[in-house]
Amino acid sequence: MTPQENTSTNTNPVRILVVDDHPNTATTLARALSQLGSGVNVISASSGHDALEKVKTNGVDILFTDMIMPEMTGLELIEKMQNHPAGRPSYTYLVTAYDVPGLKVTAHRLKVNEVIVKPVRPERICQIATNAIEEMKHSTHPIKQSAVARKKFKILVADDRPDNITLLTRYLEYEGYEHIAARDGLETLDKVRAELPDLVLLDVNMPHKDGFAVLEDIRSDPSVQHIPVIILTAARLDPSDVQSGLNLGADDYVTKPFDRHELMARIRTKLRVKETEDIIRRRNRELNLLPEIGKELSARTDIKDLANILIKRTVETLGAIQGNMIIFDANGGPGQNYQVPLSTESSSGLMTIPKNIIRHIEETHQGLIIADAHNNSLWQLDNHDSNIHSAVISPLFGRMELLGLLVLTHEQVNYFNTDHLLLLQAITSQAAIAIENARLYAITMQEQKRLAAVLKHAAEAILVFDAQGKLSLLNPEGEKLFTDFNANINQVLPHDHGYDAFIHMLDDARTSNGAKSGDITWPDQRTFNALITPIEDGGQVVILHDVTRFKDLEQVKNEFIATASHDLKNPITTIAGFSTLLEQAGPLNPQQKDFVSRIQSATHNMAELVQNMMSLAQMDLDATQKHEAIEMQSLLAEIANEFIPQAKIKNQKLSFSPLEKSAAISGDPLQLRQLMRNLLGNALKYTPNDGAITFKAEASDSQLLVEVQDTGCGIPAADLPFIFNRFYRVRGGRNNEVEGNGLGLAIVKSIVEHHGGQVNVESEIDKGTRFTLLLPLSRLES
Ligand code: ADP
Repeated sequence: MTPQENTSTNTNPVRILVVDDHPNTATTLARALSQLGSGVNVISASSGHDALEKVKTNGVDILFTDMIMPEMTGLELIEKMQNHPAGRPSYTYLVTAYDVPGLKVTAHRLKVNEVIVKPVRPERICQIATNAIEEMKHSTHPIKQSAVARKKFKILVADDRPDNITLLTRYLEYEGYEHIAARDGLETLDKVRAELPDLVLLDVNMPHKDGFAVLEDIRSDPSVQHIPVIILTAARLDPSDVQSGLNLGADDYVTKPFDRHELMARIRTKLRVKETEDIIRRRNRELNLLPEIGKELSARTDIKDLANILIKRTVETLGAIQGNMIIFDANGGPGQNYQVPLSTESSSGLMTIPKNIIRHIEETHQGLIIADAHNNSLWQLDNHDSNIHSAVISPLFGRMELLGLLVLTHEQVNYFNTDHLLLLQAITSQAAIAIENARLYAITMQEQKRLAAVLKHAAEAILVFDAQGKLSLLNPEGEKLFTDFNANINQVLPHDHGYDAFIHMLDDARTSNGAKSGDITWPDQRTFNALITPIEDGGQVVILHDVTRFKDLEQVKNEFIATASHDLKNPITTIAGFSTLLEQAGPLNPQQKDFVSRIQSATHNMAELVQNMMSLAQMDLDATQKHEAIEMQSLLAEIANEFIPQAKIKNQKLSFSPLEKSAAISGDPLQLRQLMRNLLGNALKYTPNDGAITFKAEASDSQLLVEVQDTGCGIPAADLPFIFNRFYRVRGGRNNEVEGNGLGLAIVKSIVEHHGGQVNVESEIDKGTRFTLLLPLSRLES
């Protein structure tokens, strides 16, 4: 029976062994047990040796043995059966007439399921067997099952005498051990290293290299130094040699000719110690794996790399034959996943993970042990790899979702146990963090590349300043701004090198912690439009757009308009003058009078347009900028008076609230007059007959407030944002009846800005409009 058959499958019969030195009892019990059905195969034996002989190659599932038997007691038989190469029985029952002292303790140590005190009735034995069979069928406990898959020990017999080898190997075979042989010292060393036996029986006198030299080599080789060695010495050997053998690291020595029972007992003891040591060594390896793997994973940012490391290390440590990892696509979507197969010889390529398993883990949030892949409802695959008999599956849960699964497989049924799963779960939860980090890293890198590409190819110069105002980053266009940009990187911009206006603007933006934009002149006389935006760490990003060409063009345009309008002014004045003189030159018929009046009206409009264009062009060119203290109290009163006749014509009520105190503005008197005229003129123009216009001024602290309010047609909300644009006029309604060129408010805005003030407008259709001016005062009478 192979280990995988030694489980509760439906196809293989359950093997029951009954041992009793009273042949009648054995036969009666065997006969009763045979009644349990065709799924049961009962073997009876009359002694321990008989039993071992009968189950030499095939193990048993359930063992019933009598305690007191000649040659070998029931407990001795149980112990032997536990080392059976085909695996220990799943259930063991000891039958005894007396509860002798210490029996139960030993039985417990040997994991006997029950000590049955005589007399035994066949029905009771049948009941016990039925229960055991039932339990076996439903048993899924991984640890219990793993005990079934017991290791077969391999022993190397090193002796130059063939008859010694034959004798020793026969004994070993009888005990169920695997064995290999070596006939000289060198062959022994080679086989120790190549075959990694569980124990070495080492003769001292051997050709090429004697036993002590071989022992010395074994103990100094880290890969084999843990293998127990029993030295076989001749009786005549000097005791000091025995001592030196032990000093060299022999685990035991046996003198020839040896007693078979003694030798076997010593071998058993050494193997038991080795088995325990192996477990400790493996545990240590497993415990070390967690921090080691954590370190390895955190150092990696490539997911494929991560998966490979994870698979390789876990497969090695758990002794699995194959490992697979499935990592779901970050964008989700069923089936969009990729696997990383282990590149070992045992790997048969990509393994599919059954959908049921993925679903089960998503639902339970727990890993899973598949004890028998050929017989598991979750492990259903069309292309099932027949080499896979058991598996352990551990999930990789990220912060939000299941990122993937790690699956280790083995060709042996019941290979994996709960400890394996717990260890894997600890590892995969670390791996999940590493994978999420790797994904974030990939996204960050991608973003960084994208940003670098944008910066590299941007037509604008982009500069980044840190919270201390030091230039920390700039794109290639930005580098071109500085003749020696290396001198400026990580430095604040130097004063008195032509950057002062820019530095001032940066300081302003930093203090207000808001965005700022404006034109600056660079040391090389180019003009840039700078947009300064604050960034989170307290620094600033600046985009500099070269507007030199536009500035030049605007200059040319303004000069042209200024010259053209100036040149047009004279002919227009001439036309206006002569058209007035026409009436004085002689009587005109009614049609001629009509023509003259049309010429005069058109000339008036043209003069006004030319005057407005000239004013704007001059302001743009900064040509007329005067700075003198203008007394506003009198200026405002004069303007109000100017408009009284015009208001009277339309029967409008013009109320003026003068300034109560004298106050002065530093600026250009002509411009300020024009500003007030344009606002009052519009108020009268866009207010129908009989309407009311309020013109009032107030001075407070450092500001002059002027309000022009009317009860006119109002401005549609959709037009409000554009009314200060050049040539913009509201279309439709009563506006069409009013003449104008759309420059009046543009001039207002320009003058107000030239004087460092602000203009605002509020309006309601058919109710009226209010313009509010705020201008800084240079002096206020107290
Ligand atoms: P316009 O020469 O057309 O008056 P403005 O620049 O002075 O040009 O004004 C722009 C537009 O704003 C005008 O066409 C008009 O539609 C609107 N507007 C200006 N002032 C008023 C007002 N007081 N009431 C209603 N609409 C006004």
